[in-house]
Amino acid sequence: MLIVQKYGGSSVADKAAVQNAASRIAESFREGNKVVVVISAQGNTTDELLKYASDMNPEASERELDMILSTGEQLSAALMAITLNAMNIPAISLNAWQLGIVTTENYGNAKIEAVCSERIKEELEKGNVVIAAGFQGINKNGDITTLGRGGSDTTAVALAAALEADKCEIYTDVDGVFTADPRVVKDAVKLKSISYEEMLDYTTMGAKVLHNRSVELAKRYNVPLTVRSSFSKNEGTSVCAEGGHRVVSGIASDKNTALISITEMDNIPGAANGVFSLLAKKGISVDIILCSGTGEISFTVAKRDMKAAVETIKGSVKGKIETNDRLSKVSVIGAGLETNPGVVSSLLEAIYEENINIEMITTSEIKISLLIDKNDGERAVRAIHNKFIKR
Ligand code: ASP
Ligand code: MG
Repeated sequence: MLIVQKYGGSSVADKAAVQNAASRIAESFREGNKVVVVISAQGNTTDELLKYASDMNPEASERELDMILSTGEQLSAALMAITLNAMNIPAISLNAWQLGIVTTENYGNAKIEAVCSERIKEELEKGNVVIAAGFQGINKNGDITTLGRGGSDTTAVALAAALEADKCEIYTDVDGVFTADPRVVKDAVKLKSISYEEMLDYTTMGAKVLHNRSVELAKRYNVPLTVRSSFSKNEGTSVCAEGGHRVVSGIASDKNTALISITEMDNIPGAANGVFSLLAKKGISVDIILCSGTGEISFTVAKRDMKAAVETIKGSVKGKIETNDRLSKVSVIGAGLETNPGVVSSLLEAIYEENINIEMITTSEIKISLLIDKNDGERAVRAIHNKFIKR
């Protein structure tokens, strides 16, 4: 079998963790598998590197930041290779250009466009375990790029797709994908399996367990994905085409949302198009949109895009602009939402019972999102969990 394994930052945080991960890798290798391992930077290394950089220059260029950030994964990959070597396992670490990971041009949040996997295949043929530095690629300028925070998951899935791996295992410090963040909801339940679609909505709406783009890729290339703990032998969660048959699979919350409202607009056809085409040109994604038809439009963007969004529409759009970045977007995800019409009303009941005020609601086939005050976020997640999942 060809197996791609990914070890996250906490799974290689210190000497004991590295050795623990190394013995799991060794075990897979000794079973006769070809093994490609994607490694994250150790522990909080990426945050520390960012701090280092901003101490020198808070306005550091994205290009130079990527040069710095990619070293975290380079270090941990080589460290893993030499740890395996010490255990008599042949292993070689490879960086972005050696892995042949080609990305879009943009620094800091580049997308993988292609994987030229010849070198990896050569090394596997030679009998090596390949240790890949996660989170990085090379763009058409020949520069190092990074894939956005948490991007090593995406490296793993991209390599699994390119190599047509039999399995892609994501090792982390929790036992799998839970119905809610176990730090917020004590009795959150581990899922045995979840569909690609549900997982995609779950990560897009704030679940941190997997990098959003990794799920997108897994879905597109049908990569069999498992999320499990590197510190236990528990089974983990499989992310696959067919999930379980639940009404609600997960409840996510995201504090990274800002609401922009434009009032007193001219109520004419094309007013909304004017706003959103300007934002699209700037590459700013919009999530929830509410158009009242009375000269009022509200929409949400990622918090980091709020300033740029306001700058973009100010001056070009007639109306009064207001912003609110003290919000939490709570989302309920489940393949059964569409076929269970009572869910929205039970959800609203749960929120009402907690006396929480809702700013906006949107629904799709497998998702309901509520925009509420940031301070009510965790309480709302717990209340919804109680209603739908706790028995
Ligand atoms: N080291 C990077 C981060 O902390 C990438 C990753 O761990 O997936 O975001
Ligand atoms: Mg991660």
